[in-house]
Amino acid sequence: RTAVARTCGVRPKEVFVGNGSDEVLGFIMQTFFEPGSRVCFPDVTYGFYRDYATTFNLDWEEIPLREDFALDVEALCETNRHALIANPNAPTGLSVGRDEIARIADAQPWRLVVLDEAYADFSGQTCIDLVAAHRNLIVVQTMSKSRNLAGAHIGYAIAQQDLVSDLNDVKFSFNPFNLSAPTMAIGIAALSDPAYYQGTVATTMRTRDASRKALKDMGFAVLPSQTNFLFAHHPKLAAADWCRRLRAAGILTRHYSAPRIDDWLRVTVGTPNEMGTFLYETRRILTKP
Ligand SMILES: *Cc1c(COP(=O)(O)O)cnc(C)c1O
Repeated sequence: RTAVARTCGVRPKEVFVGNGSDEVLGFIMQTFFEPGSRVCFPDVTYGFYRDYATTFNLDWEEIPLREDFALDVEALCETNRHALIANPNAPTGLSVGRDEIARIADAQPWRLVVLDEAYADFSGQTCIDLVAAHRNLIVVQTMSKSRNLAGAHIGYAIAQQDLVSDLNDVKFSFNPFNLSAPTMAIGIAALSDPAYYQGTVATTMRTRDASRKALKDMGFAVLPSQTNFLFAHHPKLAAADWCRRLRAAGILTRHYSAPRIDDWLRVTVGTPNEMGTFLYETRRILTKP
């Protein structure tokens, strides 16, 4: 907690840690919600929110993203339901500005706004410093993405002290030692090497932007990603076919057979070499229908 606090510019008492941000989100559900609690999240977002809502018997509602997949900030300001928001969002890769998040938190000051910043490090923006002035805001981050430590599984939440204290009350009556000593040593070591972290994040962002441009040059619509993946669509190539033919070439991407996004493909940004292979195969698929 001390290492995370130092990295994030907050106090240790404002940090809650868990076995991945998924577990942190689970503790947030257990601590602040009860069966029937009214929550909302976008219709297109991280799939786990619906799973939590179902698991914990919450009364949940989906707030549709706008036509262009942007977050409907007005609708989130109007509803008095607790809000689960991934910013940047997945799988769209789009993010909204800090002013919008502050507006959503201010609009309904008694309800919680849980802001999942799993991909924020690739956006160059975080809302952690908004926590000081917004007592209903909980920012959740993970070392699984930008810190390359998905296997270590370290997540944390930043919130005002009273919320963190409530989270710890639940954790300490359930699983106080949810992070192992080796895991904590790995996390602390990662946080103490900012140069490595900044280098890998910068490379990912550069490779992402170059790959996006290359896809656009081939006629793809590609959302302006603020994450480590691209979300792309082609008017003449069905996303399911694109996914299947990439797989045949040994390249794994993610196709969602869900409403609104079933003709889009999510492509994780790999190394420059891997993206070169991906673009080469995609070009081949396009020219040999
Ligand atoms: C990956 C991801 C998580 C979970 O990350 P872990 O820390 O590995 O549990 C949570 N939210 C979003 C939006 C993610 O993409």
